[in-house]
Amino acid sequence: MYEFYDKDSLREYRNTLKDQNRRVALVPTMGALHEGHASLITHAHTLADEVIVSIFLNPLQFGPNEDFKRYPKPLDDDKQYCKDLAVSALFLPSNDIIYPPDAVFTNVTVPSLSSLYCGQSRPNFFSGVTNVVLRLLNLIDPDSVIFGEKDYQQYIIIKSCIESLFLPTKIYCSPIIRNQQGIALSSRNRYLSKQDRHDAASIFQSLCKVKDAVQSGILDATELTAVLKKSLSPNITIDYIAFVDEKSLTPVTMIRSGNRVLFAGTLNKTRLIDTFELTFS
Ligand code: AMP
Repeated sequence: MYEFYDKDSLREYRNTLKDQNRRVALVPTMGALHEGHASLITHAHTLADEVIVSIFLNPLQFGPNEDFKRYPKPLDDDKQYCKDLAVSALFLPSNDIIYPPDAVFTNVTVPSLSSLYCGQSRPNFFSGVTNVVLRLLNLIDPDSVIFGEKDYQQYIIIKSCIESLFLPTKIYCSPIIRNQQGIALSSRNRYLSKQDRHDAASIFQSLCKVKDAVQSGILDATELTAVLKKSLSPNITIDYIAFVDEKSLTPVTMIRSGNRVLFAGTLNKTRLIDTFELTFS
């Protein structure tokens, strides 16, 4: 597995792959890899000949009181994890590579979608994400890029960005990987105590209740919000519960098959997000 720390060596590698007609898939991450990332990498292998994983803890997507400093950085484990998953190359840029201090900063944002839901309590988060992802896409020029369904709003925002800026990269969404309790895997789950994990599992249980309610014919978003709240642990502070159109992220009042529920909350300062697709016949 190659490791690249600067953009020239990465570009040289990328150009060689182009000359060889090798298809490239990119999996962008912030490290502290887990089985959720692994499933994206496995998905990437089905789309391309070479899989590149980037690990970059992007300061722009953290707020001033968020966990940038304490975010886990098990780099040696991450490298081994990628090797075991037959990753072709790791891109490990420093902050100055992604945001050169001597360059004029260009800001990439999708304002209409970035201010919704997670964007309400994390005002700079999505512009941080779009800024880093666009830079990675321009540096690597992958044929495909894979994002997780867990961060569904992020996926839709990047998809919009790729479409509106006419980027040639195809974007894919990979299903959420959960632990046995149903908790969506996340690098931040390392912060959770045993009791927190018990409480966090109530998110999955409540979302299952919502899914069952929809399948039994309850389609009103207000009623479904009450269903979700009823089985959620009281230790979780709800940030938002949103029932949305799966393409535009516009709120819906009556569910149509294929719409989504988006959830975010905090548990002892740890932010947890989840989502379900709501289908019925
Ligand atoms: P992160 O390292 O948290 O920025 O995540 C990198 C990518 O992994 C994003 O596209 C996430 O949506 C995706 N991801 C994170 N957790 C999961 C999970 N439990 N299942 C599937 N994908 C995930």
